[in-house]
Amino acid sequence: MDPEANRETLLAEKCGIFAAIANGDWPTSLDVAQIICLGLVGLQHRGQEAAGIVTCKFGNIPFSAHRNMGLVSQIFNDQIIKALTGNLGIGHTRYSTMGGSENVQLAQPFVVHTSYGTIAVAHNGELVNSQRLRQTILENGVGLSTGSDSELITQCLSLKPPKINKRKDENENIEKNVEEANESNFTLIEKNLQRDEEEILSRVLHFMSLTPLSYSLILMYEECIYAVRDPFGNRPLCIGTLVPPPHEGGPRSSQEKLAIEGWVVSSESCSFPSVCAKIWRDVEPGEIVKLARNKLPKTLAIVHRKEDKMPATCIFEYVYFARPDSLIEGQMVYTVRRKCGQQLAIEAPVQGKDPKIEYIVAPVPESSIPAALGFSQQSGIPYVEVFCKNRYVGRTFIQPSTRLRRLGVAKKFGPLSHNFQGKSVILIDDSIVRGTTIGQLIRLLKDSGAVEVHIRIASPPLHYPCYMGINIPTKEELIANQYNARQLAQYLGAASLVHLSVEGLLKSVQSGIRDKSQNKAIGHCTACLTGCYPVPLDF
Ligand code: SF4
Repeated sequence: MDPEANRETLLAEKCGIFAAIANGDWPTSLDVAQIICLGLVGLQHRGQEAAGIVTCKFGNIPFSAHRNMGLVSQIFNDQIIKALTGNLGIGHTRYSTMGGSENVQLAQPFVVHTSYGTIAVAHNGELVNSQRLRQTILENGVGLSTGSDSELITQCLSLKPPKINKRKDENENIEKNVEEANESNFTLIEKNLQRDEEEILSRVLHFMSLTPLSYSLILMYEECIYAVRDPFGNRPLCIGTLVPPPHEGGPRSSQEKLAIEGWVVSSESCSFPSVCAKIWRDVEPGEIVKLARNKLPKTLAIVHRKEDKMPATCIFEYVYFARPDSLIEGQMVYTVRRKCGQQLAIEAPVQGKDPKIEYIVAPVPESSIPAALGFSQQSGIPYVEVFCKNRYVGRTFIQPSTRLRRLGVAKKFGPLSHNFQGKSVILIDDSIVRGTTIGQLIRLLKDSGAVEVHIRIASPPLHYPCYMGINIPTKEELIANQYNARQLAQYLGAASLVHLSVEGLLKSVQSGIRDKSQNKAIGHCTACLTGCYPVPLDF
């Protein structure tokens, strides 16, 4: 699947979030805004429409903020970054969430001034019950100015949690008080809550009791960052340590290796190396973590899933959305994609091969490269590249004429024809959405000399929409709902077409986690493949 094709035709992730807080004396010598900016560049694949950064110097000074439409590199320059002074901050890069795409007002992070202080919020995901939640907020007398989930979350956090005013005695048992304020089923990990911790925790727990998923959140409040992941762990979120960069021409001293200059939180760990951060760990499903200066991250509470349901981490993060160099649930996304290719070769070898023809395995670049390598490794069929991809075509400002528009993928993929002329190509793609791109690629290969093209897809067919933060075309538009695999091969002009099974995908994803998970519950959302959503859809 070509990630740079028209966004209306493809799957698209909806947002990346990044936070940083400096250790040591404040004002810090770390350039917090620059770290967040670079972190967001590392998450650019999760959203390209808008971005924003909000920083905080000290709790009693108003936040600094800058948000705009466009890529991170177009929005921020040295001057803007210099103006974003602070010791901590949060950032966001946006695809389009609920509420429209062309509105800078929807760019995050959101900042609200509440009765308990100023809070900045950035989130990734989509609330499955947002319509009902909007109604709840409006009935509480709070106006909503946009259709965005981020504003909804921010307003939910501004609401006074029910019964929080019932405190009669300052020394009353805090756990009981917080429990009264929320209907959610949670375990309080930090028993000696400070006043500000109790304030924000009550509100976050209340918010979490109002909506089951999908959200990974970062909040900035009272000189601290809070990282929150929904109880299903649907969207990824991880914590990293900022370490001193290596000296020019020399390694770090052992003391420097141990030094932690600050903490970062990110949707994906791929953003860490560019800011000299190392992954610390994932934020666990349902976990509420506090990050403060000169302290280790502290889990305040864990919210449990109702009815002992399993986690529902989005399996498509592994298939397509996440960058291959990211670590999710302790495993590298690249490794999982390679395993998917291996499994695909076991499940779907090319049948009845002609001994007179040479077979090669090739990827649709770039996201399918690991799966093609896995397929080649497992099948023993040589891996050969058949396309050279033009990485800049997506950024052109020229509106192509009708004649040029008809060229379709030829603008993006140049055939490496000498690599495959007279050969049978087993073309590996990571997924098919509408079939437009793969159909054109098959034609391009055949026009350039391939004898035949077999298609192998390293994920199961997409049949259902996603309501948890991924833009998937409607059920009617999904090609898997129009043709079965045999018909689809015929329609696309392929010699054969087979998808990876759901069981094969789950095995490829979960086998690597099981080895390390130490009895942790393992579960993944496969709703767009199976129609089994993590919670009933009752919006
Ligand atoms: S429905 Fe599909 S894309 Fe959406 S969260 Fe589930 S697995 Fe991910």
